[in-house]
Amino acid sequence: MKSIEYSLVLSKRKTIAIIVKPDQTVEVRAPKRVSKKEVESFLQLKQSWVLAKLGEFSSRPEAHEPKYQEGETHYFLGEPHCIVDTTDALQNIDTDQASIPLRSIKDATSDQIEKRFDRWYRKEALALFIERHDYWREQMAHLSLPDSYVTIRKMKRRWGSCTSRGKITFSTALAKYPLTCIDAVVVHELCHLLEFSHNQRFYQFMSHVYPGWKAYDKQLQTLSWQY
Ligand SMILES: [Zn+2]
Repeated sequence: MKSIEYSLVLSKRKTIAIIVKPDQTVEVRAPKRVSKKEVESFLQLKQSWVLAKLGEFSSRPEAHEPKYQEGETHYFLGEPHCIVDTTDALQNIDTDQASIPLRSIKDATSDQIEKRFDRWYRKEALALFIERHDYWREQMAHLSLPDSYVTIRKMKRRWGSCTSRGKITFSTALAKYPLTCIDAVVVHELCHLLEFSHNQRFYQFMSHVYPGWKAYDKQLQTLSWQY
């Protein structure tokens, strides 16, 4: 049998758990009293699950983690955008090439460029989300939505949220993905204005307003592993 490499973390917990991470490492968490032999036999018992999980992560393309420097490619609206310095050559920008125009980055540090990049990105993303929010509200006019407004925030675990008072927040990073995926999130949050829970009624609204939403949700999930 193929042996699985793993790191062992002993703690006060009561049961053994196996964690397979996206970087294809395996961590076993176990109670302090457990012997190495017990850990190995538990791993063997779960071997097919662990191997399947490892395979799943290895087939995923490596995440695109761009740096903050001139010429680097970042995604916006599903398209690669190149960071360009606009300081002395505004007229030299090739208009066919999607770009992120930033000022004075030649002598700037990566942190400084990141700050300027964030400002540009946030502004563009907010304008985009507001435009899509307004567009979809118009499409849903026959459903008499309660009022809503858009905010933007860096969020780790979700793409969007909606409060009962109509405050819709989008994750800044959502702007990286294709419009179809962004729209799926926008419509999702707008449907929450009609139905707060993820119940049958909610998904009926989703399918009525944006029939392709399921495929785009899935596409967004897949792309989020890539960039
Ligand atoms: Zn929801």
